[in-house]
Amino acid sequence: MRRGIVVLMLAVTCAGVNAQGGASLTGTETEMARTIDAHVNSDLALLEKLVDINSGTMHPEGVVAVKDVLVPRFEALGFKVRWVPMEAETGRAGDLVAEHLCADGEGKCGKRLLLIGHMDTVFEPSSTFQKYAVVANTDGKIATGPGIADMKGGLVVMLAALEAMQESGVLKHCEIRVVLSGDEERVGAPIEVARRDLIGAAKASDVALEFEPSARLNGQDSVSIGRRSSTTWRIEASGVSGHSSQIFGERLGYGAIYELARILDGFREELPEDGLTYNVGLVLGGATAEVNEGNTGGSATGKANVVAPAAIASGDLRTLNDEQTARVEAKMRAIVARHLPKTDAKITFSEGYPAMARTEAGVKLMNEWNEVSVALGLGPVVEGGPMTRGAGDVAFAAPYVPGLVGVGMLGEGYHAEGETAYLDSLARQAKRDAVLMERLAEGGNRE
Ligand SMILES: [Zn+2]
Repeated sequence: MRRGIVVLMLAVTCAGVNAQGGASLTGTETEMARTIDAHVNSDLALLEKLVDINSGTMHPEGVVAVKDVLVPRFEALGFKVRWVPMEAETGRAGDLVAEHLCADGEGKCGKRLLLIGHMDTVFEPSSTFQKYAVVANTDGKIATGPGIADMKGGLVVMLAALEAMQESGVLKHCEIRVVLSGDEERVGAPIEVARRDLIGAAKASDVALEFEPSARLNGQDSVSIGRRSSTTWRIEASGVSGHSSQIFGERLGYGAIYELARILDGFREELPEDGLTYNVGLVLGGATAEVNEGNTGGSATGKANVVAPAAIASGDLRTLNDEQTARVEAKMRAIVARHLPKTDAKITFSEGYPAMARTEAGVKLMNEWNEVSVALGLGPVVEGGPMTRGAGDVAFAAPYVPGLVGVGMLGEGYHAEGETAYLDSLARQAKRDAVLMERLAEGGNRE
């Protein structure tokens, strides 16, 4: 009896959604999905071509070569494309910016869309991982290659969705901005220059889609609406040096290494809270301690019988929102300031990636994505929480627009040799993107 009532209520709800065209596809939407299926082989060929171009962040010629493949494709879709070189300013290749204005004129168009991606990968020319290959014994379903999912696959998904929109006559009603950076994996400095195009486009948009990869969680496709921040910190501790027999005494105090150990243990004991992680990645200390230029190592000297006057540690900090960043940084400063006798220490924080907080507008967008997925017959999509991924470019847009993260290809093992992508996710994600963009652009009112 109870079960009967539940079924009845569900039927009423679905009918209600159907009446607005949300839970089923319109003729145009069905056509877009068919176009994507029909183009899948040429899209996979494009993916292979892009993956085989090495575009490590620190290899600007490769990033430019990827850009050169993409530019004519956006132009063919009617986008006005701009290449913004940045080598002189930030030491990175630059940004590809593409704009498509709505043919219906101001006021008649729906939500203005921002599509975010990056052309670089973590695999530099020195890596042994350079080429696309279909993985054996997967029935041709999984391929591997540098940046295949993160996120050359996302670039192809973006183009596949836009091409389907163009063929069905949807694109001309859309106002879309695309910003593809060349330095997402290792952002150039100063960050105001490196992310100027992205922030500018976000200010002129209503919704952002970030074509980063997603993972399957328990066999289901996932999408995210929050990303954690990522900043780095460094502690430099100092102390009085002298004969080890006098340590803890009035004249020498505790030395720099005990001071540093106290601080790190204070972090471990006092900082834990939900959504926060902080790693210590490098420690040096002794009579001398110096970090190298790339912050990837350094050198230290010291002797067992000498109290250490110098110690350095560096690490990262990841938070759910900027308020948490500020609070945790203040706690870290307070722990650092409680010096042991005859020691000193200071902590510095680098500029890094802000957090993209999970918001109600984001939840609404995720629900629309889910509705599109169900209408396409692709089943519901689960949320990948902010703890499931690292920081990303969408966070720079987040102060201005809600965003969906992970609308590119699905894969595994990003940033590691052997990274893979599920090839069938190319069409699945492109269909969801095309239908969502069409609904946002045609149905949505500007806010
Ligand atoms: Zn990425």
